[in-house]
Amino acid sequence: MENAPMIAGCWIAGRAVDGTGGTHTVVNPATGHAVAHLRLATPTEVDAAVTAAREAFPAWSQAMPSHRASVLRELASLVAGRAGDFAREEMVQTGKTIRLATEFDVPGSIDNIEFFAGAARNLEGKASAEYSGEHTSSIRREAIGVVGSITPWNYPLQMAVWKAIPALAAGCCVVLKPSELTPLTTLRLAQLATEAGLPDGVFNVVTGTGVDAGAALSGHPGIDVMTFTGSTPVGRTVMAQAAVNGTRVQLELGGKAPFVVFDDADLDAAVHGAVAGALINSGQDCTAATRAIVAEPLYDAFVDGVAELMRCVVVGDPSDPSTDMGSLISFAHRDRVAAMVARTEARVVCGGRAPDAPGAFYLPTLLAGVGERDEVYREEIFGPVLTVSKHSGDDDALRMANDTSFGLAASAWTRDLYRAGRASREIHAGCVWINDHIPIISEMPHGGVGASGFGKDMSTYSFEEYSTVKHVMTDITGVARKPWHRTVFAGVEPAERPGTAGGAQ
Ligand code: NAD
Repeated sequence: MENAPMIAGCWIAGRAVDGTGGTHTVVNPATGHAVAHLRLATPTEVDAAVTAAREAFPAWSQAMPSHRASVLRELASLVAGRAGDFAREEMVQTGKTIRLATEFDVPGSIDNIEFFAGAARNLEGKASAEYSGEHTSSIRREAIGVVGSITPWNYPLQMAVWKAIPALAAGCCVVLKPSELTPLTTLRLAQLATEAGLPDGVFNVVTGTGVDAGAALSGHPGIDVMTFTGSTPVGRTVMAQAAVNGTRVQLELGGKAPFVVFDDADLDAAVHGAVAGALINSGQDCTAATRAIVAEPLYDAFVDGVAELMRCVVVGDPSDPSTDMGSLISFAHRDRVAAMVARTEARVVCGGRAPDAPGAFYLPTLLAGVGERDEVYREEIFGPVLTVSKHSGDDDALRMANDTSFGLAASAWTRDLYRAGRASREIHAGCVWINDHIPIISEMPHGGVGASGFGKDMSTYSFEEYSTVKHVMTDITGVARKPWHRTVFAGVEPAERPGTAGGAQ
C-alpha cells in the first residue's frame, strides 16, 4: 500500500491547504496498511483558519436563517449522494465494520445535518414583555462568534457533524481539529460544505496533533467558544488552555456507563442489550455499556447468556458485510486494553486476548465477579470489554451505578414502572435508557455530568453553546426625567445642579 495518496490535511477559506508540519500517515488499523499521507497543521495554519473564520463571521451570522437552512439541506443531500465513499473512508481509517459505518455513522450524520437545517429557522427566545411597566424587554439570540472544535477518532464523521453543524446553523464560523488518526471524512465533509454553498471561511479544518494544533486552537484569542469531545484528562487540559483567554468551553468527555439489571428484568432482552451495548464500535463508544450490575437471582444466567452471545460475534475483516466487529483504532490502543484486562483479578469468562490476526483486533471480553475497587470497574477501558458485578437489591444497585466520577449514560432493565421511574431519577447521568442501551436521536440532547463534562451536543439544547442571549430594553414612556433618576440626584432638578447652565458654580 505504499501508493497511498498524499492529501492536503487542511481546508481553510474554502480551499485544500497543506500543513507546514511533519508528514503523517493515516493507517488502517485492521490491516496495518497506509491509507493516506498528509502534512500536519501547525499553529500557523490554525492562525490562518481562525483569521478566515473571523472574516467570514459578520456575513454568515447575519445571513437569513432560511439561507443557512438551505445550505445545510444541500450539504445533507451531497453527503447522502456520497454515502458509500464516506462509509468506506470511515471504515479504513478506524477499522470499524462497513456495516456499522453504512447503517449507523453515515445515516446518523445525514439525519443530524437535516435536523439542524430545520432547527436553524427555529431559534427560540422569551416573548417580549413590559416587565418594568415602562420598557419593552426583548431577547436577541445571537451567534456567539468563532467556534474552535476538537474531535476524537471513534466516530470521526459523526463527531465532526455534532460539533460543526449546530454551530453553523446558529450562524457561527468553525475551525475544527479532527484526530490526526482519522481526518479523512471530516475533510470530505468540509469540502462538500463548500460545494453546498457555504461561504469560504465559515467551516475550516486543521488536521494536526493535539499538543501542537490542538493546543494552538484552544489557546487562540480569536476563538469565542471551544467545544471538545475526547478523554477527560485532555478535556481538562483544553479547558485550562482556553481559560488563558477566558474562552467558554463545552466538554463531552469519557464515560463508564452502568447497565443495571433488576431481578424482574427480561433476561433475554438484557443479555442481547448488554452484548450490543458493550461491543458497538468495538466498545470504543463513550456511552457503551461497560459495567453490568446484575441482581443476584439473575447473575449466573446473565453471565452465561452474555458469554454465549459474545462467542458468536464474528471478529475480522471490517470490509466483509458479514463481520460483526472490526479492529480497535490502533495497536497501541489494543495493547492498552489488553494490559488492563491482564491486570484484573476478575474471572475472564470469554475473550481476554487478541485473536490470531494481523490487525489491531481484540476479542469480545466478559469479566465476571469484578470488585468495586478494580481498575476495570472504575476506569474507562474503551474496548470490547464488559464487567459484571452482583447487586443485592434496588438500593445497592443504584448506589453501585452512581459509584463513579463519570456521568454520561446509563441503563436500567426492569418491567416495573416504579423501579424504572426511580432509576431514571436517581442515576446521575446525562442519559438514562430504560430497557435499551445506546440509541441516540438528533432531537434529544447528548452530554454528561461530573467527569463526563458539561454542555450538550445534538438537539436544540446545543444552541445554548453557540449563541448568546442579549437583552434589549426600550423605553416606552418618552419621559425625559425618569423616576429612577432619583437614586442618583434625589430631588435636584438638572437645571439647578452645580456646573450646569443656571446652576451655582
Ligand atoms: P483524546 O482525548 O486522546 O483526544 C481527543 C482530541 O483531543 C484529539 O483530536 C486529540 O488530538 C486532541 N488533543 C490531544 N491533546 C490535546 C491538547 N493538549 N490540546 C488540545 N487537543 C488535544 O481522545 P480520543 O482517544 O481521541 O477519544 C477517545 C475518548 O473520547 C474517550 O475518552 C471517549 O469516552 C471520549 N468520547 C466522548 C464522547 C462524548 O460524547 N462524551 C464521544 C466520543 C468519544
